[in-house]
Amino acid sequence: MKRKAVLAGNWKMNLGPAQSLDFLKSWSNYSWTPGKAEMWLFPSTISIPSIQSNATLRTANFILGAQNCSSEPSGAFTGETSAKMLKDAKVPLVLIGHSERRSLFLETDAVLVKKARLAVQEDLHVLYCIGESLQERQSGKTLDVIFQQLDAVLTDETLKAQVGTTIDFAYEPVWAIGTGQVATPEIAQAVHHEARGRIRTRLGDESASKVRILYGGSVQPDNFASLLLQKDIDGGLVGGASLKADAWNKLWKIICETTEQG
Ligand code: PGA
Repeated sequence: MKRKAVLAGNWKMNLGPAQSLDFLKSWSNYSWTPGKAEMWLFPSTISIPSIQSNATLRTANFILGAQNCSSEPSGAFTGETSAKMLKDAKVPLVLIGHSERRSLFLETDAVLVKKARLAVQEDLHVLYCIGESLQERQSGKTLDVIFQQLDAVLTDETLKAQVGTTIDFAYEPVWAIGTGQVATPEIAQAVHHEARGRIRTRLGDESASKVRILYGGSVQPDNFASLLLQKDIDGGLVGGASLKADAWNKLWKIICETTEQG
């Protein structure tokens, strides 16, 4: 089965409302080529309304997502944004479990699963991140970590039926995020293959062949094509290079060309 490739940009805590519009303006200088791939963008939540009101969004037809949502449905949780609020704000997509949320904000698998449940309940599409640290890789624990993170979703009664429909995954080795040290296509493919195998074992063939697994970690125009050519890599989750209109445009062209060939 052919999976639709995704180019996803994670702006992290960069580009406020005005800067987001500047980005779209410089990006609109490049001619937009519609393609068979999907483009997803995760700006800061506060920038979402200004992007939604901009015409480039409608022309380019990309899907906007939030970088996080609360693990609680509503109430006295200062500073949080609920999945329901995202739905209300017409944000159809949410990133859950990014390694920065796991390591800097101490979000555990149990908390992330709560977030994902609430997101799914509000009909949001979830991009759920997994990935090992350098120390875990060096001590030979990569697959143990990946399987544990995956199993939190794959064994959850609410979430497991959504895998491959409203839940996709991103594999982001922590040692490759923002370091310029991209995983080689072979290293990335090996983990993607194992992750898909785990999904097949737990949920069966249909979910495993439908679910998209994006690669993230120092994706750039000069390394993206070789990653995309790997059998189990269905797109990229891009941090740094998604902030530059020129690089973002190149990445989109690369994913469209690779998808046409594939
Ligand atoms: P990077 O970030 O492309 O800057 O390495 C990727 C991510 O954190 O999603």
